[in-house]
Amino acid sequence: MTNFTESDERIELRRQVSKLAKGYGREWFVERARAGEKTTELWLEIAKAGYLGINIPEEYGGGGGGIGDVAAVCEELAAQGCPLLMMVVSPAICGTVIARYGTEEQKQRWLPGICDGTATMAFAITEPDAGTNSHNITTTARRDGDEWVLKGQKIYISGVDEAENVLVVARTQDAGTGKLKPCLFVVPTDSTGFEFTAIPMEIVSPEKQFQVFIDDVRLPADALVGDEDGGLVQLFAGLNPERIMAASFSTGLARHALEKASAYAKERTVFKAPIGSHQAVAHPLAMAHIENELARLMTQKASALVDAGDDLAAGEAANMAKYAAAEAAVHAVDAAVQTHGGNGITQEYGMAGLLVAARAGRIAPVSREMILNFVAMHSLGLPKSY
Ligand SMILES: Cc1cc2nc3c(=O)[nH]c(=O)nc-3n(C[C@H](O)[C@H](O)[C@H](O)COP(=O)(O)OP(=O)(O)OC[C@H]3O[C@@H](n4cnc5c(N)ncnc54)[C@H](O)[C@@H]3O)c2cc1C
Repeated sequence: MTNFTESDERIELRRQVSKLAKGYGREWFVERARAGEKTTELWLEIAKAGYLGINIPEEYGGGGGGIGDVAAVCEELAAQGCPLLMMVVSPAICGTVIARYGTEEQKQRWLPGICDGTATMAFAITEPDAGTNSHNITTTARRDGDEWVLKGQKIYISGVDEAENVLVVARTQDAGTGKLKPCLFVVPTDSTGFEFTAIPMEIVSPEKQFQVFIDDVRLPADALVGDEDGGLVQLFAGLNPERIMAASFSTGLARHALEKASAYAKERTVFKAPIGSHQAVAHPLAMAHIENELARLMTQKASALVDAGDDLAAGEAANMAKYAAAEAAVHAVDAAVQTHGGNGITQEYGMAGLLVAARAGRIAPVSREMILNFVAMHSLGLPKSY
């Protein structure tokens, strides 16, 4: 029989993470973010408990689980108001790519630090001029003897200031055909010629986004992860986990907003009964909850497909999950703000602070329009529109 519930083990994992995150809570998280501080204690505690690298093979310090496990961790943290954006990047994208395509020596060098939280890895593909069209990236990698020399620029790269390394998507200089031939390089953030500046963003988050300048950064031969000619497949290995994690980030945020709004709607009375008894207040919350549960189900399906090794089917499900989750989060947070009335935009109640974070889910890591393009073309067979 098809089973639509998670395993007892996964449910217990969710319970444990939720309990741990509750010990920190939204207030603590927001205070840190507003003070420009990091949430390193939570990051390291999650790591120490074995949750950060739960998707990474045990022989490299991980938990030997799947993407569904690390996505559950990500969702439960967000549901307690403590989302850790770098989980999307470090263990899920970089960890997956290195575990799958790295040499034995590379896995031993980078994965343990990703798992124990001491060597976070950022991920950089987006460029100012290429934007959504990553086929147009111009960061180049040129061979010089035994070394690689990287040159280019990246934008909106999360967490560079707290990362030891960045997994940079570059292209080999003489690709010639004009077709994307991406290669993945691990670049230490303290490399000579590697500079970054923070982009002032409106998100209330301890993780910042950066513009990155890569000016003739010299790297040893073994900074290249995987095969120089197998780049696209290798890159895709990280993209399904990325979408699943982004979806989980959004469904967690939506749960957080809906829980707060429901509690408030039960308490607050301005006419005869609590405001939650008015359908105008209750229905938007109920609709957002339904949307969110559907998004969670699709996220679990996408995770199960990735963990079963069906990358193609997972691609469709992961894109759909990411789209649905971002929409659910935007609707949930908007309804939660409205439920709180004026309190909805005070710092004390913390609802408005979620607006930009939820909205960002429609833009990053892949925009809703590009997902709609993907579904129109691949699921419905419509002509390519771009
Ligand atoms: C909070 C945050 C964190 C991020 N972290 C990272 C990170 O760690 N690493 C990284 O590499 N990147 C990161 N990004 C970048 C992110 O992936 C990009 O912002 C995103 O892919 C969109 O690219 P763009 O901003 O250049 O928008 P553009 O490409 O300029 O697009 C602008 C708008 O036009 C639409 N559009 C463009 N082309 C089409 C088309 N063909 N059809 C329909 N609509 C179209 C887009 O959907 C979008 O709405 C982050 C972004 C944010 C906001």
